[in-house]
Amino acid sequence: MMNWLDSHCHINDEAFRDDLDDVLNRMIEADVTKAMIISSYLDDYDFALRITKSGISFKHSLGVYPGDVNELDEELFEKYAFRMKEDDCDAIGEIGLDYHWDKENKERQKEVFERQLKLAQELGKPVIIHSRDAIQDTYDLMKQNPVKGVMHCYSDSAEMAKEFVKLGCYISIAGPVTWKNAREPLNVIRAVPVERLLIETDCPYLTPVPKRGLRNEPSYVVYTGKQIAEELGINEEDFKKQINENYHRLFGL
Ligand SMILES: [Zn+2]
Repeated sequence: MMNWLDSHCHINDEAFRDDLDDVLNRMIEADVTKAMIISSYLDDYDFALRITKSGISFKHSLGVYPGDVNELDEELFEKYAFRMKEDDCDAIGEIGLDYHWDKENKERQKEVFERQLKLAQELGKPVIIHSRDAIQDTYDLMKQNPVKGVMHCYSDSAEMAKEFVKLGCYISIAGPVTWKNAREPLNVIRAVPVERLLIETDCPYLTPVPKRGLRNEPSYVVYTGKQIAEELGINEEDFKKQINENYHRLFGL
């Protein structure tokens, strides 16, 4: 039997400090044996690098989050860049644009995003993209700075998803695809070639049904994965195999 995987989780978050070992044990029980841990801060990154569990293979991503660009100075950026260059950093992210929380600093957000896209190009590392209420600007910058990557927790239109696929991007689907009002996420999974799909929890947020209302965790990625396989009419084992192939094609072995 193929394993499940979580292509985007924050188990280094405070939300997991008290019971991380239980969370990891539930990953093993649910056969979620691969996970990409996303770090937005250097101390979270140090913590993430120390997380180990026999039977689970972790990858690591580090990036300056778009919501944090106001506090970013040159000295801090250099510290991020230094860590991104090291071998244990598998991907650059999550990086991108978020106009939902802050519309006043668009130019600064774009500047920091583009700089990290260029750095990823230079390092030959994939990017993990966060885009909220900013899809056109995200697209424009990615088109100008081609680098392989994934649109994490994709929540925009199926039409736009196809455009990102044309740029070479992967589309990662999170818990909302299981929610009752999910219409566009279902259009998205049907519009995107299955060899460009990924699945994730983005835990502790965006908990899938039937755990909605609870803290999210990597073992719950199974609900999202099963839902997508069923919607696409793909046998679960074949779907898992495909998702594993996609994950390794993007992030390496
Ligand atoms: Zn995230």
